[in-house]
Amino acid sequence: MFDFIMTEKQRSLRDEVRQFTKWVPKEMILDMDRENIQFPHQYLKEAGKRNLLGLRLPIQYGGRGLSWVDNVIAAEEIGVASYSLACLWGVGADIVCEAIVDFGCEELKQEVVVPLLKGEVYAAEGLTEPRGGSDFFGATTYAKKDGDDWIINGQKRFIVGAEGADWFLIYAVTDPSAPAHKRLTAFMVPRTKGVETKYIYGLMGVRGGGAGRLILKDVRVPERFALNGINGGVGVFTKMMIPERLGTAAMTIGSVRPAIEIATRYTSKRKSFGQPIMNYQAVGFKIADCVMMLDAARGMVYSTALAADSGRVSSGRVRRMVSESKKFVSETAWDIANKCMQTMGGIGYTDVYPLERIVRDIRLSMIWVGSNEIMQLIIQNEWYKEYFQDVIKEDIRDVEFDSVNADKEEEKVYQDEDQKSI
Ligand SMILES: Cc1cc2nc3c(=O)[nH]c(=O)nc-3n(C[C@H](O)[C@H](O)[C@H](O)COP(=O)(O)OP(=O)(O)OC[C@H]3O[C@@H](n4cnc5c(N)ncnc54)[C@H](O)[C@@H]3O)c2cc1C
Repeated sequence: MFDFIMTEKQRSLRDEVRQFTKWVPKEMILDMDRENIQFPHQYLKEAGKRNLLGLRLPIQYGGRGLSWVDNVIAAEEIGVASYSLACLWGVGADIVCEAIVDFGCEELKQEVVVPLLKGEVYAAEGLTEPRGGSDFFGATTYAKKDGDDWIINGQKRFIVGAEGADWFLIYAVTDPSAPAHKRLTAFMVPRTKGVETKYIYGLMGVRGGGAGRLILKDVRVPERFALNGINGGVGVFTKMMIPERLGTAAMTIGSVRPAIEIATRYTSKRKSFGQPIMNYQAVGFKIADCVMMLDAARGMVYSTALAADSGRVSSGRVRRMVSESKKFVSETAWDIANKCMQTMGGIGYTDVYPLERIVRDIRLSMIWVGSNEIMQLIIQNEWYKEYFQDVIKEDIRDVEFDSVNADKEEEKVYQDEDQKSI
């Protein structure tokens, strides 16, 4: 909690979201984890009633017109109750609705965004296919033109909220002969004839959020349901990777925070060898590291949100910072959750405490919305570009020459000898 950098309005937003998070019935969380609930309509209805969906979206469509910093403050608190609920909170409103607001026709804004932000309908997002998720541009789901419509065929899998969704944001190949980045279209597909969802996965965590397989068989959609026009999918995908990954980072902080709070209380009360176990450095230092890591993660997310809000940071640098935040926060959260579990001994491994659910839930953060290996690829690409385009031109001391033999140019060999002689 970085209260000291929040404005009065941001503190009040945080407190409002905290009240919503406190409202979430315990039975809903447990029933989702037991898969007795497969899609928590009640949660989204309540969020809509409280005007807590799509905070960054324009007021005219039911959002609040807030900033990225506001959004990450809210997302952290949303993550506290349950990771699965946070996934649903983010996907429908922050990703699909933002894509429609930025790239869709007015009809979609009225038919999807307005009711979704009220919690009346839901929209899921389908990028991943059984064939693979990392190679997004290798999609095989395809659409063929038929008069004024497009007919879509293909499959998507692991789609959060598929079970309860009324609409799907689907990427399909519309120009197979074009280069990979120019052949995809993002369509808004209603749950209509030819759309089938299957609830088939036994998930390790984030249960009860309707994650399923989506099968599209000769599904007819009008061309006006294409976001950013036909073959404009890359524009939608690139923009949506910010809410996907920054949103995930922020909510992951919230989901792991209770692990530290529970472990702090436990280790201050639990005794061994006549003393509270927090007095043993092996225990107390673990908690200290967890608090430090959580603050570092939050600092990274806040500064990334500031960069995204500023409008002064290049899109490549924002992309790098967002990918760094997603990777760093998810790996840090995993470390924190495991350290906290360790400080609690055997009882931390049972369902007497929710530590085991937190561990199961947040493991997803390293895999979804682009695996952490894909984050590394993006960070690498953007950093090398940024270094040679901008950083190298900065008027700063070049420390490479602050060494005794810095002038020995003959020792600075960059080519291998074989190549040199060619
Ligand atoms: C619970 C859950 C919910 C999800 N929700 C959604 C959703 O709502 N919508 C959606 O579209 N998807 C969703 N996903 C899918 C998720 O985004 C993908 O699982 C993820 O992108 C990885 O894709 P994949 O599973 O096909 O693995 P693959 O792409 O097959 O990758 C397997 C492994 O290979 C690595 N790898 C692949 N290519 C490279 C490379 N070039 N360099 C280095 N490493 C590489 C990956 O990092 C990974 O470790 C969800 C997944 C889960 C489990």
